[in-house]
Amino acid sequence: MINSATSLHPWTSCLSSLKEKLSEDVYNQWITPLKVFDLSEFQVSLAVPQNIDMEQLGKMYLGLIEHCFQEANGREVRIQLRRMPNTLASTPGYAHPFTGMPVIDLNPNYTFEEFVVGSNSQFAYSAAQAVAKDPGGTKFNPLLIYGGVGLGKTHLLQAIGNYVMSENSRKKVRYVTSEAFYREFVESIQHNRINELSNYYRNEVDLLLMDDVQFMSGKDRTQEEFFHIFNSLHQSRKQIVLTSDAPPGELKGLEDRLVSRFQWGLFVDIQPPDRETREAILRRKAIALNLDISDDIIGFLAEAIDSNIRVIEGAIRQLLLQASIKHSDITMELAKEIVNRTGINRPSKKVTPEDITTVVANYFVVEVDKIIEQGRGTKEVAQARQLAMFLMKELTSASLKTIGQRFGGRDHSTVVHAIKTIEKAMERDDSFKKSVDAIMSKLAARG
Ligand code: ADP
Ligand code: MG
Repeated sequence: MINSATSLHPWTSCLSSLKEKLSEDVYNQWITPLKVFDLSEFQVSLAVPQNIDMEQLGKMYLGLIEHCFQEANGREVRIQLRRMPNTLASTPGYAHPFTGMPVIDLNPNYTFEEFVVGSNSQFAYSAAQAVAKDPGGTKFNPLLIYGGVGLGKTHLLQAIGNYVMSENSRKKVRYVTSEAFYREFVESIQHNRINELSNYYRNEVDLLLMDDVQFMSGKDRTQEEFFHIFNSLHQSRKQIVLTSDAPPGELKGLEDRLVSRFQWGLFVDIQPPDRETREAILRRKAIALNLDISDDIIGFLAEAIDSNIRVIEGAIRQLLLQASIKHSDITMELAKEIVNRTGINRPSKKVTPEDITTVVANYFVVEVDKIIEQGRGTKEVAQARQLAMFLMKELTSASLKTIGQRFGGRDHSTVVHAIKTIEKAMERDDSFKKSVDAIMSKLAARG
């Protein structure tokens, strides 16, 4: 299902884009061996064979892979690297006991040590540690960690798993997203193997880590199966840890009896990090990547990026990538450019599509209506339209589809093309890039 051979697979498109940018040797050495084993709207998980230095790969190419994925598919995803057991590489038969799904390894970097604790996460962190030290033995069963996107839920969840495995390698730890569980369940129905699925979870798992339970909402039969598995594990005093995007009481589309089980143990939240914690996280990530960043720049980034930790990480990786492409040190200028260009701290949301078309029309000295109309128009009009589409993507939260609709009902591939064209032009032509930056500042000043 995932490695479908159609040329439209997002990963395949990403690969062609990478191929264009990398030398053949580099491509063959670093990119070819990677395999996709999970793909969702926001995330692509890549399995990395043992013989590849994962840290090096992450440092040098992760930013580029993310960039190419976005370029090729017009949407931003986060790329996760996971160690692939040798067995997976060599034996095609390596698969989940009953569904043919590869078992997802824990990310070895998601440890308690690597987690920067702030007042936003103190309680969740302590609870996770308590559970890791005595799985099934505390009152926190289940432990449910909830909070917004990119705040460290998966990290903490897997830290529990990594800790338990390092303490006792015989413990059978199973990490699964509820989405993957759902797919396993559907496949097990198709192949008449529900009993196997059920037995596997009841008998072969000592610690169940289930990520993003909200995904099960509305999927009644999956919930029912999970309900029974939950009860059985709980009865045998096996530890269960869950994460979700909302507290149990606000989980919509989940059965009451399941929600009430979630409330048996302890539920704790993770909040967005405050300024000091953001700074501490930035420092930690910079050290991990061996990056030499001045205090000024750390301070600037901590102030500028007040969203989630995934975005903070993304900024650091962009810095590394840009500095290595440009063979420059990490300067304040570069940091500012990244904050502006990647739209991390978009003046955004407040900038309206009308602002954009007006400013762009003025710049190209064309009429606003011409940009929005259906026909192509003059060269200037076509260029203005492409730029307006690009800016809408950068500065507003509109989807590609919505953007297309705003411009005379053009379809989403036209928008993707426009964005790519502008990006390429900006790379090629420094003065054009400066103009775009100027237009963006102008818009930011309005917002
Ligand atoms: P969530 O599951 O809540 O969406 P993740 O656990 O995937 O978020 O975290 C996003 C990224 O940020 C991960 O790479 C994770 O390692 C990192 N991260 C999150 N919280 C912290 C933290 N407190 N300290 C260090 N890294 C963190
Ligand atoms: Mg997560």
